[in-house]
Amino acid sequence: MSIDLRISGGTVVTPSGPVEGDLLVHGGKVAGVVARDVATDAARTIDATGRLVLPGMVDVHVHTREPGYEHKDDILTTTRQAAAGGVTTIFGMPNLKPPTVDVDSLTDVFERYASSSLVDWNHNPAPTKFDHIIPMSEMGIRAYKIYMVVDTGRDYPHPAGTGIHDHGHLLQIMDQIAKTDIRFIIHPHDQGLMDYIEGEVLARGDNTPEGYASAYAAREGVIWDTAIDVVLRLAEASGCPVHIAHIQTRRSIEAVRRAKANGVDVTCEVNHWAPFLSTWNDVQTLGPYALSYWVPDDNRAAIWEGMRDGTIDIASSDHAPHTREEKEIGWTEMWKAHTGTPGIQYYYELMLDAVNRGELTLERAVAMVSEIPADKFGLAGIKGTLAVGADADIVIADMGHEWTITDEDVLSKTGWTPYNGRTISARIERTIVRGHDVYADGVVVGQPGFGKIAAAGADRKATVATTEGN
Ligand SMILES: [Zn+2]
Repeated sequence: MSIDLRISGGTVVTPSGPVEGDLLVHGGKVAGVVARDVATDAARTIDATGRLVLPGMVDVHVHTREPGYEHKDDILTTTRQAAAGGVTTIFGMPNLKPPTVDVDSLTDVFERYASSSLVDWNHNPAPTKFDHIIPMSEMGIRAYKIYMVVDTGRDYPHPAGTGIHDHGHLLQIMDQIAKTDIRFIIHPHDQGLMDYIEGEVLARGDNTPEGYASAYAAREGVIWDTAIDVVLRLAEASGCPVHIAHIQTRRSIEAVRRAKANGVDVTCEVNHWAPFLSTWNDVQTLGPYALSYWVPDDNRAAIWEGMRDGTIDIASSDHAPHTREEKEIGWTEMWKAHTGTPGIQYYYELMLDAVNRGELTLERAVAMVSEIPADKFGLAGIKGTLAVGADADIVIADMGHEWTITDEDVLSKTGWTPYNGRTISARIERTIVRGHDVYADGVVVGQPGFGKIAAAGADRKATVATTEGN
């Protein structure tokens, strides 16, 4: 048998569990797993002795910052981080300049990925222009994204055009999306409650990271829980499949568990900072650099339980780079600091480290980073699995390599990671997209423009739909 690539000596994590065998790749696809002593005529062999051979991560929540905020990062630098972090498919987010809200802006961003991305890609536009919802659905996208949050005191990262703040409007949009086969990602947030809560904190003069973290977590997460209850009820009322971003409170995890038991088509994601970066000590020592949001300690057990039992479906990074300057102001004026943290370069390794620490099984961790995001976002059998016929998107990892994350290794333009100084026990050594190396032995080797749109359909080409009226 003549094949392109044989990855020998490793433990291959297949859909039916880990297998001691050699993984075969041909024509950019997974061709099978064979016993060590089965001979093949392989054009290339990679020695993975003692290593895990895993599906690449499908990260459905990535802020590339291009176009409009390229001083933070761009598609090239984002996908360099993806390659180093074992992420073989990214889904970008619409809070760009211009925001991705219509056929023209989506066409523009598709062209940018096609020329710059090292890994496969898709993009989640905001469905805020009603007449563009159906036409954009015909261009190959797999999700829409909106924010229920309104920024107060800053103009980013939730710019006008990417939010829906009225429940009637939200239901109208869901009714339209329900006509497609596309999932609706929602950043849950109750702005009315937040206006009152943060108003009280700011009236006390507490514009610190601690004040900000406490406001977002106030009353045991009431701004999250109430919004998620609304989203779940509207998803049931409309039949629109929803995906809840930033799951982090005990009550909202319970609400999602109940909704799933009642047949609501809901998925949710945990972002890296919720399990790995949200102790009160992190808030105090890293301040604005640790925030996104803060998960009070009594919620963390519920998060891990939700990850273990499948209530929390997906691990996606919410990779959100900001410059040091945009963060530094937060020590004294946190409401002016840009919120969010970079995470795409290290999330898969942090999950594998959690496997080593016994927090998650290997099968569950791989399902959360690869199989389930692919399955729930319309890429079943194409991405996120080492099943025969799937794209050969592969990660080779050493589960016994202790090392320390440092700012010096960061491939983001911003040059920092909130995990600087953290020692973990697993290391990604190689990342392969459709049979081609994009990262090997510490070096990004992928080429800009190699990445293709990740979508169902034989030709895998983005098509440009037409629309009446803009
Ligand atoms: Zn985000």
